[in-house]
Amino acid sequence: MRIMALPNIQKLSPYVPGLSIAEIQEKYNLPQIIKMASNENPLGVSPLVKEAINQAACEAFRYPQGGNPRLAKAIAKFHNVNPENVVVGNGSDEIIDLIIRIFSKSEKNNIVCFDPCFSIYPIQSAINCNQVKKCPVNKDFSFDFEKLLALVDDETRLVFITTPDNPSGYCPPATSVKKLADDLKKKNPAAILIIDEAYMDFSGDSDKSERLFSLLAQGAFPDNVIFLRTFSKSFGLAGLRLGYGIFPAGLANFYWRSRLPFSVNIIAEAAGLAALQDEAFREMTLKTVREGREELASSLTNLGFKVWPSQANFLLIQPPQNIINAHELHKELLKKGIIIRALDSYKLPGHLRVSIGNNHENKRFLEAIKSIMEN
Ligand SMILES: *Cc1c(COP(=O)(O)O)cnc(C)c1O
Repeated sequence: MRIMALPNIQKLSPYVPGLSIAEIQEKYNLPQIIKMASNENPLGVSPLVKEAINQAACEAFRYPQGGNPRLAKAIAKFHNVNPENVVVGNGSDEIIDLIIRIFSKSEKNNIVCFDPCFSIYPIQSAINCNQVKKCPVNKDFSFDFEKLLALVDDETRLVFITTPDNPSGYCPPATSVKKLADDLKKKNPAAILIIDEAYMDFSGDSDKSERLFSLLAQGAFPDNVIFLRTFSKSFGLAGLRLGYGIFPAGLANFYWRSRLPFSVNIIAEAAGLAALQDEAFREMTLKTVREGREELASSLTNLGFKVWPSQANFLLIQPPQNIINAHELHKELLKKGIIIRALDSYKLPGHLRVSIGNNHENKRFLEAIKSIMEN
């Protein structure tokens, strides 16, 4: 007899994260690394957050308050919804995992998502034995919601969409997302639409999406929708693991009953509260990302790259095939200490994803590309 994991666990392929700074520093013996691989905040940590973390250090011996009510209240105020609509988790990853476990833990059930998509959806679904039905995105990476809906059947419990999408940056109009929710409700009233808005802050559609939050809070939006947001991107707290969701109150209640009581730690909670307060840092982040996105997109286009229009803090790019392919470019950039994301794990081997950096990083990135292409 040997100890064996369950069959569905044996078949899992693990999540592939972006390369880490330490890994590359050691491998190529480089003094300085620029990481533009994981869509982190290019300005680092807000000064208000640093101060809050220092203060919270003295509280680290205490358990956090169960259910993080202070944080939930602050998020509710920030988005103009009720605290009953807000859940928080150890990154939105935890919320995604729990949603699957709460609503769809059976081999009979299936979840529906696009292909490619954020790999946490299918991985956590497979851990929970769910079948995964994937709808290919259009050739230009836009979404065909009719085609997605066609995959929904009586056993579908969850439908995941990411908007703006990762890795393309495509952002469907808020009106068609609303229509998708209505149509899903008609087709299968037992299914939930999860709208992952990890990057919505960076898009021009952010306000429209927030209007949908208010509808949800007033009960005027179909009650089959969950919005996910995170502190990992525009708020700059990826390392502390803090995500949140805007849920219909009834569904939020299931979430709180299922969540481990202290999964959001006391430092993350303090940091989240401070991040919501730091308006100036947020404005600066959005400005840096939006301007950097324009600058990188136009410079890369001029260098012969294909660049997909993006509403997020990254660009999906394809190098000019006659000069260099994606794999070579990725490798050559690593040698120069610049990490961007190869997309083999998204089954897009000819493509790369680059996170928008700060001015200095964007400049170094473009210089490195030019020098690689000249050789
Ligand atoms: C980065 C990202 C998240 C955020 O995950 P956290 O666990 O909150 O760090 C969620 N969804 C997508 C699609 C992402 O790219």
